[in-house]
Amino acid sequence: MIHDVAIIGAGPAGLCLARALSGQGLSIVLLERQAETALADPAFDGREIALTHASQALLEHLGLWQRLPAEEVAVLRDAQVLNGPSLFALKIEAGQAGAERLGHLVANRAIRRAAYEAVQACADVQLRCEVAVTAIRHHEREVELELAGGELLRTRLLVAADSRFSETRRQLGIGARLKDFGKTMLVCRMDHEKPHRQTAWEWFGYGQTLALLPLNGEQSSVVLTLPPREIERLRALDEDAFAREMERRFDRRLGAMRLASERHAYPLVGAYAEKLVGPRCALIGDAAVGMHPVTAHGFNFGLGSVQRLSAAVLAARARREDIAAPSVLARYARQHRLATWPLYQATNLLVDVYTDDRLPLKLLRGAGLRVAQGLLPLKKGIARHLTSPG
Ligand SMILES: Cc1cc2nc3c(=O)[nH]c(=O)nc-3n(C[C@H](O)[C@H](O)[C@H](O)COP(=O)(O)OP(=O)(O)OC[C@H]3O[C@@H](n4cnc5c(N)ncnc54)[C@H](O)[C@@H]3O)c2cc1C
Repeated sequence: MIHDVAIIGAGPAGLCLARALSGQGLSIVLLERQAETALADPAFDGREIALTHASQALLEHLGLWQRLPAEEVAVLRDAQVLNGPSLFALKIEAGQAGAERLGHLVANRAIRRAAYEAVQACADVQLRCEVAVTAIRHHEREVELELAGGELLRTRLLVAADSRFSETRRQLGIGARLKDFGKTMLVCRMDHEKPHRQTAWEWFGYGQTLALLPLNGEQSSVVLTLPPREIERLRALDEDAFAREMERRFDRRLGAMRLASERHAYPLVGAYAEKLVGPRCALIGDAAVGMHPVTAHGFNFGLGSVQRLSAAVLAARARREDIAAPSVLARYARQHRLATWPLYQATNLLVDVYTDDRLPLKLLRGAGLRVAQGLLPLKKGIARHLTSPG
C-alpha cells in the first residue's frame, strides 16, 4: 500500500495538517515518537499560546476551537511594551483596530488535546505512535520510509513536523539557520494581587526580560528570560522564595504573587530551514520556522504553514494532479517564506536590540517606544494585523 501523505511529528502542527487534509479521499499516516497516552492527555508544559484572529478562524474551521474547554481560553485584549525601570508603556489596544480583543491565550496542552481529538474523528488518518524513522529513500514517484524494526512505508508526499530541532529535516539533507540566543526562558502560572486587565506585558528590563500573559481570574502566565544558570537557580527555589523574587523582579507592580503551577524552562534557539521543500517533501510548523517566542508568532506561523500547504495539496488533488509535484510544493514554499521570513528577521533584530544593555541602546529603545507611541498608524497597523480574520 502507498500512502498519499506521511507526516512525521504529531505535535500541534502535524495533527492540524492531518485534520486539514482529511475528508478529501487521501490516505494519511502520522508518525510520532511519543506514546499515544502523551498525545491524548498532554502534560502541562507551561506554554500559553497567544492566537491571532486568523489562527482562531482556522482552528474553528478544523473543528478544534469548539473542543477547547472554556477555562483554558483567556481573552487577550491589549498589550503593552515597557523598557527598563520606566513606567512609560507603548500600548497596543484592540480598540485601535475596532476590535474587542487582540486575540486569545490558550494553553498549549489544550491545543494539543483538541488536535488529537479532532484527528481521532478522521477515519482516513492513521496515527502510529512510538515509532522512529531510521532511513528515508527517494524514488521518482514516491518516498520510502524505513522504521526502526525494519518495516517499510511508502508515501507520495512526506511532511516533516517534528519540531525546530527536526531530525527529519536533517535526514532529508536540509540545513537550517539556527540562532542560539544564549538565554533560557522560564514559564509558569502565578496568581497575583493586582488585576491584569486582560493586558499582556512585554517588559525589556535591564539584565532580564519579563512577560506577563493574562489568564482567567487574577492569574497570569509569567515568562522570565535570563542566562541558563540563573534560571536553574530560580527553578530550584522553594515556592515562597520564588514568589518573593518574582514580586521583586516585577517591581511589585502586580502586588503579592503566588506560584500556581510547575515551572518549565526552554532554551532559546530560533531556527529557519534553508529550504521549506525538497523532492516530494515539505517542512511545516517549527521544523520550517522556529521563532523566538517574544512576538508570539510560532504556532500562528505553524497554522499558516498548515493552511498554505493543505491549500496547495488539495488544489492539486482537485485538478487530479500529483499532490507532491515540484510546482505544488514550490507554491507552498514561496507563500510561506514570504509570510514568515521578514518577521523572523525582525523578531531576531528586536531581541538583539532590546536585550543589549549597553547604555546607548538602553536610551535608544526607550526613545523608540515613545516615538512608536506617538505613531497611531503604526499601532493601528499592528492591532489590525493581529485581529485580521486572515
Ligand atoms: C515558552 C514558549 C512560549 C510560546 N508561546 C507562543 C505563543 O504565544 N504563540 C505562538 O504562536 N507560539 C508560541 N510558542 C511556539 C509554539 O509552542 C510552537 O510553535 C509549536 O508548539 C510548534 O508546534 P510543532 O507541532 O511544529 O512542533 P512541536 O510542538 O515541537 O511538536 C513536534 C512533535 O514531533 C514529535 N517528534 C519530534 N521528533 C520526532 C521524530 N524524530 N519522529 C517522530 N516524532 C517526532 C514530538 O514528540 C512532538 O510531538 C511558544 C513556544 C515556547 C517554547
